[in-house]
Amino acid sequence: MVIYKAKNDVALLFDDGPNPKITPKILDILRLKDVKANFFLIGMRAEKSPDIVRQIATEGHEIGNHTYTHKKLVEILQKQGDQAVTDEVIKGRDAIAKAAGIEEDQIIFLRPPYFSWNYEVARIIEPLYGNNVVMSGLAIGDYDWDADHKWDEQDTQAISAYAKRIVDAWMKIIENGTLVGFHDSSEHNLPGNKHYDNWMNRALPTLEALPIIIDNILQKGFRICKLSEMELVREESARLS
Ligand SMILES: [Zn+2]
Repeated sequence: MVIYKAKNDVALLFDDGPNPKITPKILDILRLKDVKANFFLIGMRAEKSPDIVRQIATEGHEIGNHTYTHKKLVEILQKQGDQAVTDEVIKGRDAIAKAAGIEEDQIIFLRPPYFSWNYEVARIIEPLYGNNVVMSGLAIGDYDWDADHKWDEQDTQAISAYAKRIVDAWMKIIENGTLVGFHDSSEHNLPGNKHYDNWMNRALPTLEALPIIIDNILQKGFRICKLSEMELVREESARLS
């Protein structure tokens, strides 16, 4: 597995969007703080909310490919073969670029869902993305909650308590070069999915945590920048799936 770690600065990553409810609020926060981030979008989600994707692009953030359906690439390879992996990645890239109103070659980074990756998948992806595969910056805190918890905007106490967990988890580990990962949405966030209502709200604590984390990062003297502005170093890991 290829892992990229930045050498300098700190980057903010948002996975699995766009989420029509949450992503515009994240954009508000980033605008207010005058910070640019990377959004790794799911192609089929981008098709549903092209206005938000375009807004992400026009506000100067970097848009990355998180595939078309958010399935595990290793499983696609095992079940459907090489071409299906290529198709999943290309279809995602093209859907995202079309929604954003940008050229396909401006989607320069790929983030494999679930970090599902092995040497075979890497061989297939290499001609498409080269070394621009972003594995680092696993979201912490905003993801590991009880899936049965019903998040509600009125439940400010639970939201604040969870926001504090996210802030505390990240601030313990942020250093020069950290990729700070969040989720603004999820693959379940399509109408008709049984988790839809809950997952629409899953990022409410993240919305509360984000401005605090940004302030903390800046107070520590780090610069927040886009991945393309960072110097990335390649690391090898034995973690294969
Ligand atoms: Zn994801």
